[in-house]
Amino acid sequence: MVKQIQELEDYYLLNDEDDDDPYSLFYAPSYYDVDEQLVIVACLMLLEQRYRVMQSMTPQEIVDEVDEIIDSLNTELTNTALSKIDDTVKSFFDNLMNEYSIPSNYVAQDTSMYPIIEQSIDTLCNQLKGEIKQKSMFFIDNLTKDTFNILPNFKRAIRRIIDGVGGNLIYSKEKSKRNIEEFVYGEDKLYYWITANDEKVCAWCRMQESLPPRTLREMPLDHWNGRCEHEPVDYMYSDEYMLMLARGEYMDEINSFTPEDASMSQSEGRIQAERRRI
Ligand SMILES: [Zn+2]
Repeated sequence: MVKQIQELEDYYLLNDEDDDDPYSLFYAPSYYDVDEQLVIVACLMLLEQRYRVMQSMTPQEIVDEVDEIIDSLNTELTNTALSKIDDTVKSFFDNLMNEYSIPSNYVAQDTSMYPIIEQSIDTLCNQLKGEIKQKSMFFIDNLTKDTFNILPNFKRAIRRIIDGVGGNLIYSKEKSKRNIEEFVYGEDKLYYWITANDEKVCAWCRMQESLPPRTLREMPLDHWNGRCEHEPVDYMYSDEYMLMLARGEYMDEINSFTPEDASMSQSEGRIQAERRRI
């Protein structure tokens, strides 16, 4: 019996570090930029509200009410995450579209990750609900010296939000950026994988860098805390993009764009890409 309790203690992370530190509920890793961190923290605040409510409840009260509490969390988290992610991706995407002088009807922002984000929130809420319910029932059924504490369960949910919301936000931005690049340089353009080239670069990214150039469709997305970039083998524009420029919607840009600039940026790009490949 003692052994069984021990195993359950391990399972529920009863001895998790920093359990009394409320600020750790608002943790967003520094590999996310400030805008991305704000999206994560907005989600964590919803989680924290539920934690504050349930913290003072008895195990029996939790068993009775956990479904309702976590189901409403699920709905609010989904709405908040999707609307904030969409806003953040949109402002990132619009900035890039402006940089390339592309009118908004030419390229669409990527929304293919949104169902996956919704799914990951649903999964983490169901896991949280199941874990808390199981833990409460364990405390109702068994005498244990431990204090009833659901913070470790919420902390696990935090880690799932950091990946499921934060990670997929980064993917959404990256995929939106690639939509623009495919329009500007064409879908057949080949790209080099470029790492930060320091001791922190992982083996997987080193391997990516050593591969021959690929199209964006053949190139995987970087992992969530990655710092890798990609660079086209040359900076020749696609026919579609040239045509768009020629239609004169941005005459100022074209007038200030001299052939000298064009050749310089192309050869510079080639040299840079070649240099990094070595
Ligand atoms: Zn890596």
